[in-house]
Amino acid sequence: MRIEEFKNEIKKILQDKNLAIALSRAISSYRINRAKIMDKFPNTYKLVEEVRRIKEDSVERIQELVETATENMVENGIDVHFAKDAEEGRKIAYKLLSDCNCIVKAKSMTCEEIRLREFLESKGIEVWETDLGEFIVQMLNDKPMHIITPAIHLPRETIVKALNDKMDCVKASNNIQEIVKAVKSYLRNKFFEADAGISGANVVAAETGSMIIIENEGNARLATGLPEKHVAIIGVEKIVPTLSDAIKVAEVTWRFAGYAVPSYLNIISSPSKTGDIEKIIVKGAHGPKDLHVVFLDNGRIKASQDEYLKEALLCLRCGSCMYECPIYQKLSGHWGGEVYTGGIGIAWTAITGGDVSMAFLCLLCSRCAEVCPMKIDSSKILRELRKKILYKK
Ligand code: SF4
Ligand code: SF4
Repeated sequence: MRIEEFKNEIKKILQDKNLAIALSRAISSYRINRAKIMDKFPNTYKLVEEVRRIKEDSVERIQELVETATENMVENGIDVHFAKDAEEGRKIAYKLLSDCNCIVKAKSMTCEEIRLREFLESKGIEVWETDLGEFIVQMLNDKPMHIITPAIHLPRETIVKALNDKMDCVKASNNIQEIVKAVKSYLRNKFFEADAGISGANVVAAETGSMIIIENEGNARLATGLPEKHVAIIGVEKIVPTLSDAIKVAEVTWRFAGYAVPSYLNIISSPSKTGDIEKIIVKGAHGPKDLHVVFLDNGRIKASQDEYLKEALLCLRCGSCMYECPIYQKLSGHWGGEVYTGGIGIAWTAITGGDVSMAFLCLLCSRCAEVCPMKIDSSKILRELRKKILYKK
């Protein structure tokens, strides 16, 4: 939405009591968790400096790392594809998934970026979001309002009403545990029925050709482990040189996302296989036989050469900056780009394409930089975007 139209919307958003309740509950829980975690793991602050260096080096070497990761993944038995933009990403994914009736999907902002679920659904394929927040957003026909917590804008009362209207076989109550149980039961068979699973990845290690997926719910390991086929759509900025670098990036990501340690850390380096009979390797033991990775450029490589935008490529997608941004605290993901929310979301929209006029709402206060593990100051990027719009640079 362009800023001129948005001006008329702001008053309505500010009067939305449900939004205010949901945001204040989520922000206060996040702050308490984060303070506890940083007290327990003070070394995280040291680790962020190392991770910033790893990410800076990786952005400098982005094309070389795509090549190295591709070589090593292919050697591991993964089919690797490269998509230059969103359209090509959708085309490749559809070619890989056109024989599927039912797909289960783990949370992935990169898939949101190319509108993959909607595209596959338009081709008649059933696609189920399996992350609880994403499932709620899918049921409401809404958009994710935060990169880590997609349903951050909804209080439990709204969620229960929406789920009970849509999930005809299961009923949830206002009790959060009951909601989780009801969704688990609703999605259970979808995992077994699915012909394929789709995911993104939090980070990729070029040297071993491994992708890491951080999660708490256990849905990503089911979606990537149960069906015969797994397709991962991954932005090229997620690649770092080594597995040890990747683990460090993952550790900082989950800490700043508000978790002491995630329930699951999935490291996937090849299709499922066994050599238990006569040492003959057979693909597809209990997990997927076919594993595809689609590396997505969509503006990232060009941005890696841009003085301001390359800073946004360091983003770990931890979501920390949004909880502390004064504008986000009032407007949630209504502020930002169409897909990526908040100040950093506008920078990401500049990279991947879309309207960035919301940059004019930024207070240029730099609170986001204070809490960002990578010290990304979105205000500097947004100030440049404003100049570009004003002076049509
Ligand atoms: S500089 Fe802009 S994006 Fe960052 S916290 Fe302030 S208002 Fe939010
Ligand atoms: S800009 Fe920083 S705080 Fe915000 S999501 Fe990215 S890494 Fe996290």
